[in-house]
Amino acid sequence: MSKKDRLDNYNYMKNLTDWVPKEDIFKKDFVWPRQMEIHLPSNKEIACDFHCFYCQGSKLDMSLGMDEKKALKLMEEIGPNTFEYYVYGGAYTEPLLNPYFMDFMRLTKKLKAHFGIHSNGSQLKKLQEKNGFCTELVSLMESKYDYYSCSLDGGSPESHMKTKNIKYDAWTDIIEGLKILVSEREKQKSKGSIRVAYLLDKWNSGIEELTNFINLMKEIKVDSLRFSIPYAQYGNEIEKVQNYKQKIEIKEHLHFKKLLEPLMSKSKDEKPFIFYFAPVNQDIDRMLDENYKQCAYTYYQTTMGSSGHIYRCSSIATPSFDYGILGKQPETVEEFKEMIRVSQDKEFHCHTCIHSTARCNRMALEINTEWNAYNKENNYTAKRDSTMAVGPKKKRDEQKHVYSEIDKRWNKKEYIEDTGSIMDEENFRTPKSFQAYQANNTKK
Ligand code: SF4
Ligand code: SF4
Repeated sequence: MSKKDRLDNYNYMKNLTDWVPKEDIFKKDFVWPRQMEIHLPSNKEIACDFHCFYCQGSKLDMSLGMDEKKALKLMEEIGPNTFEYYVYGGAYTEPLLNPYFMDFMRLTKKLKAHFGIHSNGSQLKKLQEKNGFCTELVSLMESKYDYYSCSLDGGSPESHMKTKNIKYDAWTDIIEGLKILVSEREKQKSKGSIRVAYLLDKWNSGIEELTNFINLMKEIKVDSLRFSIPYAQYGNEIEKVQNYKQKIEIKEHLHFKKLLEPLMSKSKDEKPFIFYFAPVNQDIDRMLDENYKQCAYTYYQTTMGSSGHIYRCSSIATPSFDYGILGKQPETVEEFKEMIRVSQDKEFHCHTCIHSTARCNRMALEINTEWNAYNKENNYTAKRDSTMAVGPKKKRDEQKHVYSEIDKRWNKKEYIEDTGSIMDEENFRTPKSFQAYQANNTKK
C-alpha cells in the first residue's frame, strides 16, 4: 500500500514533523519526543503468557526489573504538555498482565496525553469479569487517538495455538474480549480506537480462515485490521536476516499480496479499514544503505524497557543491547531529560545498531530513511561505533552487545573480554520458566 492510502496514524514522518519541525532536529539542545514507550514488566514472574516463534525478545535477555511505582512517580513529575502519547506494550511482555496497568492509563489521561496499548488480548475477558477492566478502559478513551491494539495473529483456536505456541484455546476468549470492548464503546459512545493486527504464517493464512476472520472482524466492528509478515527476530546476524528476507519475506510477499488484494479495503472510510503492510517496510537492506546514518527516531519516542532502563528506542529495549541503554530508571525529571538529550545525537550512527544484531522497527525505518535523504548534506556527522558481544558465546540471552570503548558504556562497566576478570553481575529479575506457567494453565 502506498503512503497516501494509509490511515494518518501510520504516516510516521508526518507524525514526527507535526510534532517537531525538521529544522529543529539535531539543532535544538533538547526536544520532548512525541511519545514515551513503556514496556510494562508483565507480572514479574513470566514475561508473557504466550510464546510466539517470532517474539522479538524471546531469544534475548527478558529482564523484568522495572519499578512501576517509580515510573508512575516520574510521569507525575513530568506533568502535562510534554509527551503527546504514552504507548504501552513490550518487546517481550504482555502489558495487561501487569497489576499497575490501569494506574498507568489513568495517569496518562490525567496528564492529558493519549494512550496506545499493544497487547495479545488474552486478559481482556478475564479482567472484565474480575474488575470491569474493559468498561473502565473504554471510559478513559477520549478520542480516536486513544487506542487498544490486539496482536491476534490467528483466525481460529487451532492456528492461534500453533502460532502462540500454547496448548489451550485462548483465541475464543480474545474474541469475546474484543466484543466486550466494542460493545462498551457503543454503550459509552466513546471515540477510542480498537485495532487488530495479524501476522501471517503457515498455520493461519489459508484463504478460508482469512475470509472468515475478516468477516468476523467486520461483524465485531473493530476499527482497523492490519496484516503483515513477521519480522525476523532481533539478535540475529545480518546474513541471517538477509536470508530470511530472501526465503520468507520476498517469497511470501508475492503470495500474500495476491491472496489478500481482493479482501483489502478500497477506501480509507471503510470500517474496519483492512490493509496489508508489505515487508519492504522492514527491509534489512534499506537499513544497510550507506546513507542510512543519523537516527531521528529519538525525536519520535524514547523507551522505558521492562528491565528498568531507558533505551534509545523500543526495538533495542533489552539489556542484550547494552550499548542502547541511556541509564537506569531515572529518579528525577532532570535526570530523564539528560538521557533524552544524550540520545538526540547527530553523531550516533544507525549502523552501530544494525551491526550489533539490532534493527529499526517499521516506524524508525521510515523516519530514518526520509530524514537521511532530507539531511544528506549534513548527516556525515554520524559515526559508526564499534560494539562487541560479551558473555557466553552460545547463549544469546546471556550475551550483551556493549560499546568496545569502556568510556562509552552507560555504566563504564568492564567485562572479562576487556580485562580478563569477571565483574559482579547486576541482579535483574528474570522470568520464571514459560513451560511451568503453561503446564499450570493447561491444567485449568
Ligand atoms: S504475544 Fe507478543 S510478547 Fe507475547 S510471546 Fe507473542 S510476540 Fe512475544
Ligand atoms: S534500532 Fe534504529 S531506531 Fe533504534 S536506536 Fe538504533 S538506529 Fe535508532
